Amino acid sequence: MNAGTPKTQVDTSKPHPARVYDWLLGGKDNYPVDRAVGEQLPDLGKRSARQNRAFMQRASAWLAGQGVDQFLDIGTGIPTAPNLHQIVQEINPRARVVYTDNDPIVLRHAEALLYSSPEGATDYIEADVREPKAILDHARGHLDFDRPVAVSLIALMHFIPDGDGPYDITRTLLDALAPGSYLVLSHGTFDFHKELEAQITGTYGKGGIELRFRTRDEVARFFDGLDLVEPGLVTGPEWYKDTAAPEPEENAVYAGVARVS
Ligand code: SAH
Repeated sequence: MNAGTPKTQVDTSKPHPARVYDWLLGGKDNYPVDRAVGEQLPDLGKRSARQNRAFMQRASAWLAGQGVDQFLDIGTGIPTAPNLHQIVQEINPRARVVYTDNDPIVLRHAEALLYSSPEGATDYIEADVREPKAILDHARGHLDFDRPVAVSLIALMHFIPDGDGPYDITRTLLDALAPGSYLVLSHGTFDFHKELEAQITGTYGKGGIELRFRTRDEVARFFDGLDLVEPGLVTGPEWYKDTAAPEPEENAVYAGVARVS
């Protein structure tokens, strides 16, 4: 484990995205300021968080089944079993996973992310996705970038405002990948709930968190130049591979997996 930019103090005076998300998932690693945000969100918030986490699990399992055995997960979140490494190592115990988040609370819980299978490996680095080169430099010490790597940006990029260059960040990460690598991305949207935009963005904004949910076209741009695998860019509960999708549920998340050629 290595700390990129150590900020080891957990600030409990302001809400943090990782802790609000933990609350939405029914976790216990959050503080009153985070709960206050979660409680002001519509039910859609909890439902979308659960569906997003379930997408992460299905997509990771599918990739491991395709033979991908290296994963770089950025914006990992507070551990919530099963975590990505538990899913992929159940399919391939040799899988190697590098986790990254910029929130000190995730670092504090990182031990739960580091119980790898003996044959595989997991690693955690505290780092900001806005410094993709630093993340890649670190990940190169653990993963072989001459072989396919799945990079996951799951429910992360809607915390990156346009001014911070979310598409350039993604491009920098993708440019480091060998053919046969994958991008796994999910992203909040108001496409189906325009009426909730002011409430949700305002609730996060009051807590100092700038939320930038994007339209379908804006989310599709993250996949420019890549080959989206079936079923394409869809809502979280519609992203199914090997089993038939149940009835799609109302949600606020786009999800997709695409191959680097
Ligand atoms: N990927 C997980 C968690 C999503 S919650 C999942 O889908 O289940 C979003 C996560 O992104 C939080 O843990 C938050 O701390 C992290 N995050 C937000 N901004 C970030 C940034 N600039 N760099 C790295 N991580 C960030």
